Amino acid sequence: MSQQQWTAVDEYFGEVLIGADPVLESALAGADEAGLPHINVAPNQGKLLHLLALTVGARRILEVGTLGGYSAIWMARALPADGKLITLEIDPKHAEVARGNLKHAGLAEVAEVRIGPAADTLAQLAREGAEPFDFVFIDADKPGNPAYFEWAVKLSRPGTLIVVDNVVRGGAVADAASTDPSVTGSRRLHEVVAAEPRVSATSVQTVGVKGYDGFLLARVES
Ligand code: SAM
Repeated sequence: MSQQQWTAVDEYFGEVLIGADPVLESALAGADEAGLPHINVAPNQGKLLHLLALTVGARRILEVGTLGGYSAIWMARALPADGKLITLEIDPKHAEVARGNLKHAGLAEVAEVRIGPAADTLAQLAREGAEPFDFVFIDADKPGNPAYFEWAVKLSRPGTLIVVDNVVRGGAVADAASTDPSVTGSRRLHEVVAAEPRVSATSVQTVGVKGYDGFLLARVES
């Protein structure tokens, strides 16, 4: 199996199951024009997040790692009219692009972009006494994942679904000798999740246009 084949299959799924979406395509074009890196989720992954948010009946969604707002648009589209998505981004330029894209998508009323290191903005949400989130997507710096996961659990309720992207690190997550901070972050994340009695979790490997990677999914049980 090759990257070329994984890409062709993702393109096929996109054509058959997703189709053209001028708003999302314009969000990607806007991010590209602004010089943002191409590290957004793939269309079929965005739709997966959308379907998961719908399935849990999400009224409040939290995202860690906004970039240009591509995954935020997918998820915010799953919200009811009085729903709320808060997405956290360290880079003011990324946040500005995301705000423009969310506005263009007609989601400015439901989606809020907060700027700052996620460790700070997550702590701020807790200090504010934020209502629990129903769905959390963690997709920022990978060494931060153990701490972001712990915050996500604190900001959740029983039934909340937490999804963490890029946990496989090209397979290196299985390498106990790795010193790559993203790999050690992903291994530490799995240890934190395993030791957290309030969640039930699994991780799945994926291939596609974004290469070989995977997601961790955790349901808050109590
Ligand atoms: N979720 C986005 C999507 O699929 O459209 C992609 C997010 S991208 C993989 C990661 C983002 O996290 C980048 O925009 C980066 O600037 C941001 N980021 C990195 N470190 C961060 C931190 N400590 N706090 C908040 N955001 C951070």
